[in-house]
Amino acid sequence: MMPTPSTSTPELLSTPDDLRRWSLACRAAGLSVGMVPTMGALHAGHRALIDRSVAESDRVVVTIFVNPAQFGPHEDFARYPRSMDADLRMLASAGVHAAFVPSVETMYPPGRVTRLDITGPLGERLEGASRPGHFNGVALVVTKLLVAGVPDRAYFGQKDAQQCAVVRRLVRDLDIGVEIVVCPTVRDTDGLAISSRNVYLSTEERVRARAIPSSLATAIAQFEAGERDATALATTVRSCLENAGLDVDYVAVVRAEDFTEVERAAPTNQIVLAARIGSTRLIDVVRLGVDTAPVGRGV
Ligand code: AMP
Repeated sequence: MMPTPSTSTPELLSTPDDLRRWSLACRAAGLSVGMVPTMGALHAGHRALIDRSVAESDRVVVTIFVNPAQFGPHEDFARYPRSMDADLRMLASAGVHAAFVPSVETMYPPGRVTRLDITGPLGERLEGASRPGHFNGVALVVTKLLVAGVPDRAYFGQKDAQQCAVVRRLVRDLDIGVEIVVCPTVRDTDGLAISSRNVYLSTEERVRARAIPSSLATAIAQFEAGERDATALATTVRSCLENAGLDVDYVAVVRAEDFTEVERAAPTNQIVLAARIGSTRLIDVVRLGVDTAPVGRGV
């Protein structure tokens, strides 16, 4: 019989030292530790990562930290949605054992001189080009969380595909010795990937956002019908988005490991995109030959 998850309030940890002590105590007792890093405003996408971690690890810590280092100067750090009370209730209902909720000052004490640079296409193309410094900020906070939290496994969402590739690479480059588990994208019934930023969309924008999953569904169908020209697949996606009045930032067909763009599409390559609807920037991804279409075509 599956153990029933506890619904008691998770232990609240607020400094990296608290996190390390908690994790080392679990491990000393022979219990495996899973970690789910988040920026809070928890939704069904986060919940899927948390449920998987609870199913696979003896003890689970969810980290909630809106990381200023990964936001550009003109991005939405100040207005990023925050809902700590609801988040903690969700963690309790999911059977999470600990919540790491540090302050910015605790994570980034004054006088810091260390940084991480994610170089090459992985750090500097696509999301990296549109959001300069973003992956350096992600790499810094993820490294700090993994080093302090010493989990056996850490869980990330396929929705942020380039982030997953960056994290896998940095764990290898820095010999961090944690297993990175990538979980499938959770979508709303109309196919739109669930994101904390979806709350920014007006009702009319939310309807137009359906062009994102339907553009990817159209490209998947084209790939499954035999199209292998990456430019043709990307053009299909771009046209669908532009027809719905979205402002396309990029569409590309890439290798999953290093995010280099391919000319000929092959199974496991990913179609990645970023587009703006009004002032809201959304990203999405499908894995060719792996993912089923996120929604019916032409929705
Ligand atoms: P965030 O709070 O947006 O930084 O996300 C925390 C983690 O949840 C990241 O690993 C995301 O990729 C993952 N995540 C966010 N949205 C989804 C989703 N719709 N499906 C699966 N994972 C997600």
